[in-house]
Amino acid sequence: MKKIGLIGGMSWESTAEYYRIMNQEVKRRLGGSHSAEIIMYSVDFEPIHRLQFSGQWDKLAEMLSDIARKLEGAGADFIVIATNTMHKVAPQIEKSISIPLLHIADATAEKIKEKGLSRVGLLGTKFTMEMDFYRKRLLEKHGIEVIVPEKEERSYINDAIYNELVLGIIREETRNNFKRIIKGLAEKGAQGIILGCTEIPLLIKQKDVELPIFDTTEIHAGKAVDLALTG
Ligand code: GLU
Repeated sequence: MKKIGLIGGMSWESTAEYYRIMNQEVKRRLGGSHSAEIIMYSVDFEPIHRLQFSGQWDKLAEMLSDIARKLEGAGADFIVIATNTMHKVAPQIEKSISIPLLHIADATAEKIKEKGLSRVGLLGTKFTMEMDFYRKRLLEKHGIEVIVPEKEERSYINDAIYNELVLGIIREETRNNFKRIIKGLAEKGAQGIILGCTEIPLLIKQKDVELPIFDTTEIHAGKAVDLALTG
């Protein structure tokens, strides 16, 4: 079994899910008392959060590259960054290591294509919904068209992520608002919905939504197990 190098803590609420899913998946596939081999570096999220909001992506790239190198040095066979947003600096991280980085958007695109869909709605932080790094990759590398909510809704979702979900606060009112926003995306032609923030699956489950959802936490953690158990 390969060793998964997990960069977590962004936030720990979703990293705990990665840890659970990876272990459950290995146990499900191998049976007995098998569990995943994981080397994790879990960050203090507060300074990361501040750097994101002050636009210091180069500094963030440096910090996460340093962590990825440490995981490689500790024997990790590949790197998993347990957040969609920080894939903004995935290209810099990839350049600083000699092991593969398992990109969350590629893992998600694979599932979308398996379902035969080509037009999906995307919910995530404002960085993920508005910047190029995620949508452009889905479109140019995978031919998947992405629809995002309106500006006001994007700002609402972003606030809910940083003021509630990463702090472990789950509110019914927020769930209902997310459901309403998802309905709007369906009306605009979305065939499925990417839960493109690793904390959103703590709030929204498939039973809450008619369209197929793509839970990036579950997909990314599952793909990491695929990789750990092959070759
Ligand atoms: N975990 C979130 C994501 O998947 C947001 C927290 C962060 O900014 O990294 O994008």
